[in-house]
Amino acid sequence: MSSAYNVSLAAPTYSETYRNISDAYIHLSMLERLWAAWYAYMQNDVIATGLMTFVIHEVFYFGRCIPWLIIDYIPYFHKYKIQQGKVNNLKEQWQCTSSVLLSHFTVELPQIWLFHPICAYFGMSHDVPFPSFLTMFYQISLFFCLEDSWHYWNHRLLHYGPFYKYIHKQHHLYSAPFGLAAEYASPIEVMILGLGTIGSPILWCALTKNLHIFTVYIWIVLRLFQAVDAHSGYEFPWSLHHFLPFWAGSDHHDDHHRYFIGNYSSSFRWWDFLLDTEAGPKAKAERIARQKGKAEKSDAVSKKVD
Ligand SMILES: [Zn+2]
Ligand SMILES: [Zn+2]
Repeated sequence: MSSAYNVSLAAPTYSETYRNISDAYIHLSMLERLWAAWYAYMQNDVIATGLMTFVIHEVFYFGRCIPWLIIDYIPYFHKYKIQQGKVNNLKEQWQCTSSVLLSHFTVELPQIWLFHPICAYFGMSHDVPFPSFLTMFYQISLFFCLEDSWHYWNHRLLHYGPFYKYIHKQHHLYSAPFGLAAEYASPIEVMILGLGTIGSPILWCALTKNLHIFTVYIWIVLRLFQAVDAHSGYEFPWSLHHFLPFWAGSDHHDDHHRYFIGNYSSSFRWWDFLLDTEAGPKAKAERIARQKGKAEKSDAVSKKVD
């Protein structure tokens, strides 16, 4: 099947279209049939992709926040709260949710309609079958690295005087973050940092012409999970960074909200480690000790030269 957008198989209802697609292309997986039927049924790729993108974002963003809202009320989990004693009350959570929702509908929704034309311009595929697992795996791993680098430098820049005051300050309203606060930010910040998430696959596609929108969706969902989890305020013995030491997680980003300086990366720890911008009193003490050691060393060398 060369194109998911197969008008001849379109029917008055989505379920009939799905049946037609299933009869014609029995080799496709169920997910691929659902995908192809969606494009055939909608008969407008821009609206089909736009609607799907918006719904995926809303469902996975708020869906991922729900478990964090629930465990706030389960005493067993309280011992895993990073900033003990800090309680985010329902009123605060609701104010944050309504602000995020308003931004999704007013800032994001209008831009989402550009997504399909941009993808089409750079040659991104929306055909079926989907790419192999291996292809998706290496591409998404690359997007994580690209986005993390973009995030590190731009987030660091957003902490500079006027940029912080006029753009980034909003995101720092909560010094003890919670899942819903992940996208609580000024629209300018959403666009700057969001470019790392959307721009990375577009850049890859412009260079290689080898990318599928489905892969981009999986990437966006994983990036949403990463952002919500990083703001959860909970750290568990089974958190990912205990198994992948370079993974940032909530342990890393919570300290950014708590101390305001340092830990600028999103997904990984390597930029902050390499550029000595790790947050928190422990990292600060280590930094001072290192600087002291360096100064003593250079003193000893200059005395030797004298
Ligand atoms: Zn910040
Ligand atoms: Zn944050």
